[in-house]
Amino acid sequence: MSDAILVIGAGVAGINCALNAARYGMKVFLVDDTPSIGGMMARLDKTFPTNDCSICIEAPQMYEVDNHPNIEVLTNTSVKKVRGAAGEFEVKLATQPRYVDEEACTACGACVAACPVSVPDELDGKVGGTRKLISIPFPQAVPNVMAVDTACRQGKMREHGACVGGCAVDCSQCRECPIALCVQACRKEGKDAIRLWQGPASRSVAVRGIVVATGIRDARPPAGLYGYGVHQNVITYTQFERLMNAGGPTAGRIVRPSDGAHAHRIAWIQCAGRGLANGVPYCSKVCCMVAAKQAIITKEHDSAVETLVFHNELKAYGKGFWDFQRKARQLGTRYVRARPYDVVEHPATRNLTIRCEDIESGRLLSEEVELLVLSTGLAPSDRNEKLARLLGIDLDEHGFFKERDALLAPLETNVPGIFLCGGATGPIDISESVVQASAAALKAILSGRAGQAESAP
Ligand SMILES: Cc1cc2nc3c(=O)[nH]c(=O)nc-3n(C[C@H](O)[C@H](O)[C@H](O)COP(=O)(O)OP(=O)(O)OC[C@H]3O[C@@H](n4cnc5c(N)ncnc54)[C@H](O)[C@@H]3O)c2cc1C
Repeated sequence: MSDAILVIGAGVAGINCALNAARYGMKVFLVDDTPSIGGMMARLDKTFPTNDCSICIEAPQMYEVDNHPNIEVLTNTSVKKVRGAAGEFEVKLATQPRYVDEEACTACGACVAACPVSVPDELDGKVGGTRKLISIPFPQAVPNVMAVDTACRQGKMREHGACVGGCAVDCSQCRECPIALCVQACRKEGKDAIRLWQGPASRSVAVRGIVVATGIRDARPPAGLYGYGVHQNVITYTQFERLMNAGGPTAGRIVRPSDGAHAHRIAWIQCAGRGLANGVPYCSKVCCMVAAKQAIITKEHDSAVETLVFHNELKAYGKGFWDFQRKARQLGTRYVRARPYDVVEHPATRNLTIRCEDIESGRLLSEEVELLVLSTGLAPSDRNEKLARLLGIDLDEHGFFKERDALLAPLETNVPGIFLCGGATGPIDISESVVQASAAALKAILSGRAGQAESAP
């Protein structure tokens, strides 16, 4: 039986699962299909219920997995094929090139400064986040290495001003690029780390158990919902999180996308899109706490900012959570039980008027705000369907992985030896993800030992 396990997805759940198994003495392959480990937590500002700095907590764990002798971290890597059974899986992994030599790159940033093209960042582009065509996902990324945008390397960004492309020789055949400004800047630093000729690589690993930790995705609202995608000052709660973040696109200044002005009146709409076509049909558990956190932090930035939360039912399901929401109220946040039906933009100021019925008083209300935040919930990873097919495991009706029995066999799948943790199971917060990660690690370690890893049928 192999003495290794495979963890797919390296957010806080996958990282903790890997650390638990590695500390026990297991060899762990920790794969993520993006250029850095860390997942959503690495992009958050602070975390409820303690409001500790998110990356300050996660970064030490990210460095620990990267330096642990039992853990091999494989970024830009995904699962291609799985054979075998519990105790003796054989998994084929494919690693996409980052076009940068991980050993030689020191993330000095000379290539980034030289790159002539900025594009909107996938997560926070709406609130001003941009990245170059060669970039590092975030300052604390692990590995702390640049990656070249695949579209740039393939010459598809030429019409946007990129220097790569339009050359007679294909990059995969050439070792002496005469045109790429990032290559020249890197050489000037004496490093020569950019490898535009890199191709994909594959390898097979033998593992006794597999843990799926593919997490969650920020759910984008359907176009037009409460003016999203139509009015500039309507953003999602993930975009607001990036606005608050000192490491985010505005260095923590809470400003409006329309004019970059400081927002003095901000509203949140909870359960935005819930129950609508293309909206999230379930409760995501964390959004009420996220709104309270964001209102508290907004007040900490500037106590004069008015904060208003439109909600239906409030969820405070964890230890200390109700006190946390009370703190938001004590700091002056108004909670209105209402489902807004209308958002109108004022052409001159770009302010937004929200109209709704206050469910408790029955009165029609109209509130004008400078920035509107939609709490849109947590959606499953958009790569779950493909992964489920490859592993032969079931998804639930929403696209999260299905537990064999939610009560008696949680974290187990329909395939013995394949387990789940964190957002792969459904909407979840960080502390629950970490708890599940410990349990899943133990189950994967025991995988293949008769009658030990799986609960009774
Ligand atoms: C705006 C916002 C604010 C939040 N604030 C808080 C908070 O204050 N406190 C709190 O407790 N929780 C908060 N949460 C929830 C928190 O983000 C999640 O609980 C946590 O990220 C779950 O961790 P995870 O590792 O399961 O998933 P993720 O963080 O999503 O990590 C999953 C990883 O898997 C990788 N992956 C996905 N699919 C594949 C694949 N097929 N192959 C390989 N890799 C893959 C992804 O690239 C990612 O790195 C917030 C969420 C949002 C959206």
